[in-house]
Amino acid sequence: SSEPVFNFAAGPGMMPRDVLRQAREELLEWQRSGMSVMEMPFSGEVFQAIQQQAQQDLRELLGVPADYRILFLQGGASAQFALLPMNLLPAGATTDYADTGHWSRKAIAEASRYVRINVAASGAARDYRQIPTQADWQLTPGAGYCHITSNETADGLAYHWLPETGEVPLVADMTSDFLSRPLAVERFGVIYAGAQKNIGPAGLTIVIIRDDLLRPARPETPSAFSYRVQAESNGRFNTPLTYAVYIAGLVFQWLKRQGGLSVMAECNRRKSAKLYEAIDGSDFYLCRSCALDRSRMNVCFHLADDALTGEFLRQASEQGLLHLKGHPAVGGVRASLYNAMPEAGVDALIAFLHAFAARHA
Ligand code: PMP
Repeated sequence: SSEPVFNFAAGPGMMPRDVLRQAREELLEWQRSGMSVMEMPFSGEVFQAIQQQAQQDLRELLGVPADYRILFLQGGASAQFALLPMNLLPAGATTDYADTGHWSRKAIAEASRYVRINVAASGAARDYRQIPTQADWQLTPGAGYCHITSNETADGLAYHWLPETGEVPLVADMTSDFLSRPLAVERFGVIYAGAQKNIGPAGLTIVIIRDDLLRPARPETPSAFSYRVQAESNGRFNTPLTYAVYIAGLVFQWLKRQGGLSVMAECNRRKSAKLYEAIDGSDFYLCRSCALDRSRMNVCFHLADDALTGEFLRQASEQGLLHLKGHPAVGGVRASLYNAMPEAGVDALIAFLHAFAARHA
């Protein structure tokens, strides 16, 4: 059909149309190189230039300080749940983790195979409707690091502040809000993110790490997953995800053309605010999370009458509002509003919310 389609999937999620168009233009031949980026040897000059440009653009966008390295790895964020402790700490070391929802629990479960975990803060007591405030944190002095999930993709919660952890390096899984807003990189020891939301194709995984944390990994760590080995070989220890790195690079350039991360943050604030307003303004829909901690990427809500959810999703998808189903662990409805979601998509969703409520009231 000629009606526009809006993809609200949590990930892989919507990509900027301009980026996809440019990739199509360049698919068969990249800038008179005689070949597709997919066909380029990774150690050749042309691909190296693409990789360096992507790194440099990301460094500029985020303001990554000189004493941090940017790594383009493989394996997704779930692999990082294990690779983080394997790279940073010896067996038996103690770490702090905040449990704020589904994805922090996944991170904790996996990391607990490699390190001792103290749950320094938990949203459980408040049914995961809120990020625990600093006063509720019980940090372990001398912990190897303190891990947070900056945006809980399934629960629809996000930090709009950063916990104070003193000398203990703050580590964040930013898979679902990376590049959605400006970031004080210098407050973190390690930041990691899977690419499939705001960056590019699934599989590509970005790790930003402060130089002093680039220690030798535990001996059982595969070399391809050693932060230090990858940093020392400029990400070319083995064949990197060449095509995904190229696409991510196009996204970084697109973000720069939009005006950078403050502009994106303002767009994302506006898009999510109007959707939350529509939900809060109706008895038909319910958002349970505390207003101060709501995600601007993943807007999670329920229908007051849960039995109507299936019909809601069916009608939405008929109108080109796709993949609004909530995470299976949480249920309900989830609208993911990543950078690439135009405001028109949010407006269309809001119009649908009103129309559906009116039809079924
Ligand atoms: N962390 C967060 C916050 C996520 O949203 C996801 C995926 N939805 C993951 C980790 C897991 O990512 P992957 O599937 O790339 O392993």
